[in-house]
Amino acid sequence: MTAMTLVQSPTRHRPAVRGTAVRGPAVREMAGLSEAVVDLSAVRDNVRTFRRLVPQGVMAVVKADAFGHGAVPVARAAVEAGAIWLGVARAEEALQLRAAGLIVPILTWLYDAAELMLLGDVDVDVSVSTVAELQRVVSNPSVHHVQLKLDTGLHRSGSAPDQWIELTRAAAHYEALGALTVRGIWSHLSHGDSQDAVQSRRQLQLLRTGVVLARRAGLRPSVVHLANSAGAITLDAPDCDLARIGAGLYGIDELNIGLRPTMRLMSKLIQVRRVRIGEGVSYGHDFIADRDTTVALVPLGYADGIPRISTGQASVLCRGVRMPVIGRIAMDQFVVDAGELPVEAGEPVTIFGDGSRGEPTAQDWADWAGTIPHEIYCGIGSRVARRYEEAAR
Ligand SMILES: *Cc1c(COP(=O)(O)O)cnc(C)c1O
Repeated sequence: MTAMTLVQSPTRHRPAVRGTAVRGPAVREMAGLSEAVVDLSAVRDNVRTFRRLVPQGVMAVVKADAFGHGAVPVARAAVEAGAIWLGVARAEEALQLRAAGLIVPILTWLYDAAELMLLGDVDVDVSVSTVAELQRVVSNPSVHHVQLKLDTGLHRSGSAPDQWIELTRAAAHYEALGALTVRGIWSHLSHGDSQDAVQSRRQLQLLRTGVVLARRAGLRPSVVHLANSAGAITLDAPDCDLARIGAGLYGIDELNIGLRPTMRLMSKLIQVRRVRIGEGVSYGHDFIADRDTTVALVPLGYADGIPRISTGQASVLCRGVRMPVIGRIAMDQFVVDAGELPVEAGEPVTIFGDGSRGEPTAQDWADWAGTIPHEIYCGIGSRVARRYEEAAR
């Protein structure tokens, strides 16, 4: 912007319409510029929905800070609603849950050998895929609960089927020596989000065979599990003890089973100004105003998880209307087109929510960005405060 426009702009400013502004639904004053409001009653309802629909017990998967929602509050809510296990990807996530006082069994599947002692000290189950991993567990002074993972087709981690007998025999040997306890046998679906359960049924058959072989080796696992959220619905697996529920916990409703979204992302307009026809907005002037209009600044950017690619498609809700995101989304901020609405700095804006007030959903943002809502939720950065509420239904 030139010095000239800076000097001119105050005279072009429209008069403030303080007091006459039509506000949206009453919104509690935000602590910071933006906040992610997490509805723990929705988390509980989602756990209960799975408990009702699925014979297996619920392992609440709270990895990646509970898909960006906050691991500890979500884990507590899930356990209150009847989840009997917690699952996390990484060791430090398991340690965080234990440090917060959660005492239910926890499984972790990505850890470093150096973390084994800490995990053993607080009795976190560790996933083991190879004899080498098993030996690292045994060489650790803590006695561990381990869960042997069989690769039934995802081809990511897990024991190759042709090494399974060797792994189960080694585990039985160490168990007999009192060096560890094999608590579970598990695998992960490759097409868990698909309506078509053909591949999932194939994987279940392989897991069943794996369990038979493990028993033959002398193991007596107390839990067997395979399914994720969608797989728990599509795959009939009465012989499994647990389903590992991640996405479904957060209301990502891949199979329309009546789950409730759990996060609302709120911010506020921090600056409002007019641009004239022909003026460009944001880096590179990718957006050029085709009429005089009011633009407003939202203090969220790609560092906060707003996908940069979504401009041109994305919109947010302010004053009950959708305002398109215009110009390039920057690291810390983006601009919306308020048209002729007399918006003011400080007004609340909903980036996404459950859609009930006309706001976009996380699924909408995922569509605009060519991704899945999981990535939208996980991407919400650490600068966005999390606030927990119990919505009245
Ligand atoms: C993330 C994850 C899950 C949860 O899957 P959803 O589809 O989110 O329910 C289950 N198991 C493993 C191993 C995972 O990594």
